[in-house]
Amino acid sequence: MNALAATNRNFRHAARILGLDSKLEKSLLIPFREIKVECTIPKDDGSLASYVGFRVQHDNARGPMKGGIRYHPEVDPDEVNALAQLMTWKTAVANIPYGGAKGGIGCNPRELSKSELERLTRVFTQKIHDLIGIHTDVPAPDMGTNSQTMAWMLDEYSKFHGHSPAIVTGKPIDLGGSLGREAATGRGVVFATEALLAEHGKSIKDMKFAIQGFGNVGSWAAKLIQERGGKVIAVSDITGAIRNMDGININELLQHKESSGTLKNFAGADEMDPSELLVHECDVLIPCALGGVLNKENAADVKAKFIIEAANHPTDPEADEILSKKGVIILPDIYANAGGVTVSYFEWVQNIQGFMWDEDKVNDELHRYMTKSFHNIKSMCQTHNCNLRMGAFTLGVNRVARATLLRGWEA
Ligand code: GLU
Repeated sequence: MNALAATNRNFRHAARILGLDSKLEKSLLIPFREIKVECTIPKDDGSLASYVGFRVQHDNARGPMKGGIRYHPEVDPDEVNALAQLMTWKTAVANIPYGGAKGGIGCNPRELSKSELERLTRVFTQKIHDLIGIHTDVPAPDMGTNSQTMAWMLDEYSKFHGHSPAIVTGKPIDLGGSLGREAATGRGVVFATEALLAEHGKSIKDMKFAIQGFGNVGSWAAKLIQERGGKVIAVSDITGAIRNMDGININELLQHKESSGTLKNFAGADEMDPSELLVHECDVLIPCALGGVLNKENAADVKAKFIIEAANHPTDPEADEILSKKGVIILPDIYANAGGVTVSYFEWVQNIQGFMWDEDKVNDELHRYMTKSFHNIKSMCQTHNCNLRMGAFTLGVNRVARATLLRGWEA
C-alpha cells in the first residue's frame, strides 16, 4: 500500500471514530492546493538537467501551512501528498497554530555538487515564491535538505519580497534560526519515548535501543538516549549496519562517521546485514529513515516491545495490524517526530517577535509541548478505546475539523 493510501486509510478510520460528516471528511482529505513545477539548471559541466518540484499545501484551517522540503530520488506526487496531509494532523496534535504542507524535488542530492544544489533550490524558490509566505506557507528542511538549503530559499525569496527571515524555519542561526532546532526532532523523539515509557513504569536507562537511520534525527536521538543512560545496541544507515549488545559509544561513532563518511569499519561494534536492524533483538526500535520500512514481510519478526516512529509513516497498515496483534506498542509519527515542527514554530515566533530565546527555553518549551500532547493523545485513547495511532489521529483530525466548522463555508 503506498503512502497516500495508507495515510488516507488512517484518516478515514479516525473520521469514523469521530463520527465526522461525510462531506466534511471529504473536504478535509482533498488538499488545498497542489503545485508542480519544472526546474531546469545548468550543471557544473555546462549540460542542462531538468527536475520536477512539488509543493502540496494540504490544509490551512488552523494557520499557515507548514512542512519540509525533501530532496530524494523517490519523491513523487502521492508521497508528497501523504506527507503534507500528515503535517496537517501533526501540527494539530502538537497544538501549534499551523496547517500542513510538504514539498520535494525528485533528485539525488548526493549526486549534485553544492553549487548545483544551490541553483536547483533557487530555481524551485523562484517558481513557488508567490504561493508561499510568512502567513501562508512556511517551508523547512526534510530528508536531503538542511539549514544551507533554507538559507538559499530565504535569500531567493527575499529578492522578491524583501528580507523575510520567517519565510523558512530550520535556517542557520546566523540568519535567524533558533537555538535547539538542529537537535529538535531527535530531542522530541526522546521526550516522547520518555513519556511513553513512564506510562509503562519504565525509563530510558533500563532499555536497549535499535535505531534505523543515523542522519540528523537518528544521531541526535541516539546521543540523547545515551546521555540518559540508555543502551543503543544497533544502528544502521545507507552505508551499513553495526551492533554491540553492550552498547555502542555514540560520541565515538559520530566522530567515526564524520571522518570516514560511513558506519563501516567502526572499531566499537560488529557489522551486520542492514536488513537485520528492524528485526534485531532490542526493547525499543526507532525507525528514523524512509517510509514503509515495516511491512508484512518483516513485521512478524520484530522483537522490540516498543516502536517509536521518528520517520514519517515507517509502518504500513498491514504491519500495524501484525504488530498490534503481537502486543507491540507503537508511538505514531504524527506525535513522535513532531519535535522538529514544534521548534520550527518557536523559530517562526522568534523571527516575528524579533527576539531570540536561549536554548534552555527552547528545550523546556519543547518538553512541555511533547508531554502535553502525549497526555492529550492518551485521553483520546481512553475516550474512544483505541490505540495510540488512532488516539493521535482523532486528536489531530478533531482539532482541524473544529477549526474548519468554526470558519464555516458561507460565501
Ligand atoms: N520536515 C519536518 C517534518 O516532517 C519538519 C517540518 C517543519 O519544521 O516545518 O516534520
